[in-house]
Amino acid sequence: MSLEVLILGSGSALPTISANQTSQVVSCGNQHFLVDCGEGTQVQLRKNKVKIQQINQVFISHLHGDHFFGLVGLLSTMHLLGRRAELHIFGPKGLDEIVEIQFRNAGSHLSFNMVFHSIEKAGDVLYEDGKVMVTSLPLKHRIPCYGFHFQEKKGLRKLDGQKLVEYNIPVYARKSIAEGQDFRSEEGVIVKNAELTTDPPKPKAYAFCSDTAYYEKLIPFIQEVDLLYHEATFLESERERAKKTFHSTAKDAASIAEKANVKQLIMGHFSNRYKNKDGFLQEARMVFKNTDVAEEGKEYKL
Ligand SMILES: [Zn+2]
Ligand SMILES: [Zn+2]
Repeated sequence: MSLEVLILGSGSALPTISANQTSQVVSCGNQHFLVDCGEGTQVQLRKNKVKIQQINQVFISHLHGDHFFGLVGLLSTMHLLGRRAELHIFGPKGLDEIVEIQFRNAGSHLSFNMVFHSIEKAGDVLYEDGKVMVTSLPLKHRIPCYGFHFQEKKGLRKLDGQKLVEYNIPVYARKSIAEGQDFRSEEGVIVKNAELTTDPPKPKAYAFCSDTAYYEKLIPFIQEVDLLYHEATFLESERERAKKTFHSTAKDAASIAEKANVKQLIMGHFSNRYKNKDGFLQEARMVFKNTDVAEEGKEYKL
């Protein structure tokens, strides 16, 4: 199992023909989590061949339109396609009211249940199953705003085929050995687990950091993640504007990545005043080398 991150939108407030608003799909096995849902997200999902009825959890970072204006349209499409499965929507308080009032005034009764979960604070476990855990992250924006940390769970131990033959291990015992147990034969002979298995791959972690000013309180929450997405709306030359609007510069994003000792940084949420992204890469790579710009349609496999 591994985590995969598909970028659907890398732009900020104004959608343009070259940049969509924030949205991503984080996948773990057959679970697909939608993270933010700016205008145009459902078209991006189709373009990138994501089956929308396979999405069972949606995470919305905050209530600025460029992060959720696509949600009502997506929900409506799910309904038109006859969805029955419950959909869990995580977001700041007030999102439920906004969504419900739209359907109520349209006289629409959805074919499925929406279950809203309001995010109250950072550090809360929002979702957990056998494979992955999602936790809220602290961000600093004009209105309440959260990031999301996806932590893969430790997988089964790897069986050493040669050793299994050597010790004549019956097939029925393999499951418990993969789970970490020693093997005990009918005669009472014990073979230690370490003799029969090797460690599973290290579980992967991904952090999505939506709109935020430079915020050092975030750092302990995202230490050593394999991939960090951090907004970088501006360059340092627009430092004043970044400050006023509670956004980050490319240098800010890179400083957070460097201080949190992450493996890789991808930046997004670019202001459409910048024609190309070279300046972002240059500025960020001076601080943190392994930096990339979010490219719509690109999938990062961790
Ligand atoms: Zn935004
Ligand atoms: Zn915002």
